[in-house]
Formats: sequence, C-alpha cells, structure tokens
Amino acid sequence: MAQLSDDCFAFGGPMMSVDEAVRLIASRVTAVGETETATLVDADGRILARDIAAPLPLPPFTNSAVDGYALPGRDLPRDKERAFPVSGRVAAGGSVQEAQPGHAVRIFTGAPMPGGTDTVFMQEDVRLDDNGHVVLPPGLKVGANVRPAGEDIPQGHLALKAGQRLRPQDIALAAAFGLTTLEVIRRIRVAVFSTGDELASPGTPRAAAQLYDSNRFMLIAMLKRLGCEVSDIGILRDEREPLAQALRQVAGRHDLILTTGGVSTGEEDHVKAGVEAVGSLVLWRMAIKPGRPVAMGIIAGTPFIGLPGNPVASFVTFVHVVRPTVLALSGARAAPLVPIPVRAAFTYKKKSGRREYVRVMLRPASDGALEAVKFPREGAGLLSSLVDTDGLVELGETITKVEPGDRVGFLGYANLL
Ligand code: AMP
Ligand code: MG
Repeated sequence: MAQLSDDCFAFGGPMMSVDEAVRLIASRVTAVGETETATLVDADGRILARDIAAPLPLPPFTNSAVDGYALPGRDLPRDKERAFPVSGRVAAGGSVQEAQPGHAVRIFTGAPMPGGTDTVFMQEDVRLDDNGHVVLPPGLKVGANVRPAGEDIPQGHLALKAGQRLRPQDIALAAAFGLTTLEVIRRIRVAVFSTGDELASPGTPRAAAQLYDSNRFMLIAMLKRLGCEVSDIGILRDEREPLAQALRQVAGRHDLILTTGGVSTGEEDHVKAGVEAVGSLVLWRMAIKPGRPVAMGIIAGTPFIGLPGNPVASFVTFVHVVRPTVLALSGARAAPLVPIPVRAAFTYKKKSGRREYVRVMLRPASDGALEAVKFPREGAGLLSSLVDTDGLVELGETITKVEPGDRVGFLGYANLL
C-alpha cells in the first residue's frame, strides 16, 4: 500500500486551476509498486511494470510482402521485359530453399525469401508465356516487395515501456515476441460510497423525498474502466460518527477512498467532519465548472477524495482529479487529455479565470467539418445531459465567450477513461 503523508494534498492558493490539480497529484501521489503476472488475455488495460526489449526481431525472418515471383536483384530486367523459367515454390510457413541461378521462384505472402533472392515481382505485374516461363517487366527496384527481418522492430529495441497502460496493439506486440504473460502493477483497490439522507439504493424502497443513488454506479463503472478493483460500500447517512467509522474501516485496506456528495460547505455536509475526525482534509476550491469544491484527504495514509453530489459535477471532477490519482497510484505514465479541434455551433458566455466544460453532441456540417452542438440545458444535476451527448467542449481559463464558427477543443467520453 502506498502511504501518503497527511499534508500530501495541501495547497496554498485560494482557487486551484485544473492544471495545478493534475500537477500536484502527479508529483505527490506515489505508486503502489506491487506487481503481479497477467496472461495476455487478461492484460488489456493493465499497467506494464517493466520495460520490454524485443527478444527477437520483427518480422523474425525476411519474407515476401506479396504473392509473386522472387529472384536476385542482379537478374532484374533493366530496360525490357524478360522471361525466366520458374523453379521452386514457397508458401507462408514453408521452408527456405536456395534459388537456382537464372530462375525465378514462385512465392506467396509471408513466405521466407529463398536463399540468393532479394526482390519479388507481384503476380499482378507479370504474365506467363507459352513455355510456362514468367515474363517480368523492367523497372522494378532491388528489394521491392520484401519485408526484411527487423524492419518493424530490431532485436533489443525498447518496444514497450514500464508505465504503459496496455492497449490491444501493445498486447499484440507482446504476443509477436512470443511472450505468454506480462508483469503488471496490481489493480488499485478503491472503496466507493455515496452520502446523503435523500438517497435510496436501486432495489430498495424509495421514500417520497428520496431519489435513487446514481453517482455510485457511474463512479464504479468509471473506476473499473481505469482498471480498479472496487469495493462498493453503499450509501452512508448524513451523520458524522457513522461516516467516520466507515472511513476508518476502509482506510488501510484500500489504496483510495472515493465518495460523492456532502462536501460543499453547508451545515448538512457531513463528509468533511467525518474525514476530519479520522484523518486530515483540505477542500480544493477548483476553478472548474461544473465542479467545485472537491475534498481531498488522507486517512491513515490512504488518500481520500470527496466528489460533489451533482452527477455532472461528479463526472467532470472525476476526470480531472480521480483519474490522475488512479494513474499515479498505479504507476501509469501521465496521460494528458488532448482535446481535438471542432467547430462550435453554439453561443456561450463564461467567466474568465475558470475552466468550463460544455456538454455537446457532434454532427458533420455540410462542408464536412465536425460541429459541436450544445446540449440545450446546463444544470449540473441533469443526467440526460451526459447520456444524450458525445463529449465535452473544454473552454480554457482565458476564454470569455464562444460564437458559432469558433474553433473549440472537444473531449469525447470514450477518450476520458
Ligand atoms: P451534495 O453535494 O450532497 O450537496 O448534493 C448535491 C446534489 O446532488 C443534491 O441534489 C443531491 O441530491 C444530488 N446527489 C448527491 N449524491 C447523489 C448520488 N449519489 N446520486 C445522485 N444524485 C446525488
Ligand atoms: Mg448531500
């Protein structure tokens, strides 16, 4: 378990920018360090624990890139076509054979190049004459249509780096090296609970003034996408003592404690008092909308993050605070979110000095450009605004307005986790 000091999340300023939050987390949260072995079929999304140098070149042997005819470069027709007798045939997986001088060898994609040959004519570019000879056109370059051993990756090359969050293509590379397992960082263990007397768990009776707890299931799903092992603690009531007790119980057995609701500064916000009873807590007043504030704490060395209760604020702050924390705990390389430019199809006014996120749908405009259409309503409690949109337009701190036609940065939901 990573042990963090009580002042780990201390921050001096009155307001914290999103970038400051991400930087602070990356510099102060330490990785858990423990590793385990994952088979290739279970490695997707895991964090690679060690560098991997190529144990063999890729491709491992020189082979043909096409179906055709192989011959030595010195025999290539220079200025007019020339017929060659064909002797030998080598298909993918076939054994290497020596080419006969003055002959072409029939060869297929992926087959090893016969000894003495270094060039392949595509079968589409040749013809067979009445004698069964292959007639090759002039003008082909020596080495054409051949994939030399190691052209993709030379042996010994640092092919996958520690801290890589494994993607399907990374796993393919490990398989191409003949590896069967990978050493990965163990999954980050996160305890999640919701707080609020107004919440009922789906499947239980709901009183007239209650709503079903939705955030907890959103957060659990987001954490799982980040590769975490999640303990679902359920809903805690707005009461200091039971909250403190629950926090004490889960700390030490988890790498992170995550809650939603109860962290504003109102008198009914009991999470703050609960954390302070068993650990240390700071409120990050983040310059972000929807979002602030976010409670950051340490309970017996375990980091605590208290997200706002409004679903959209919870979602947005998860992306900027929880995601970097989970990545740092798991030793993953920092993965900045890079918005892609799209064209705004909306008008928007905002305060300078804070980052705002606008929920948008993407649609192709008549000129082929991608346009971002703003969800018509703005409330931070509207789940439909997350469900019916494709992602978030990120408006930087210095922006004060958006007009139709402006270029804005878009973050698709699929790329946030
Ligand atoms: P709070 O941050 O506790 O003041 O809550 C802000 C708003 O978010 C309130 O309207 C809550 O009812 C709502 N809310 C809090 N927690 C949840 C949750 N787990 N699921 C859905 N809505 C919530
Ligand atoms: Mg509440």
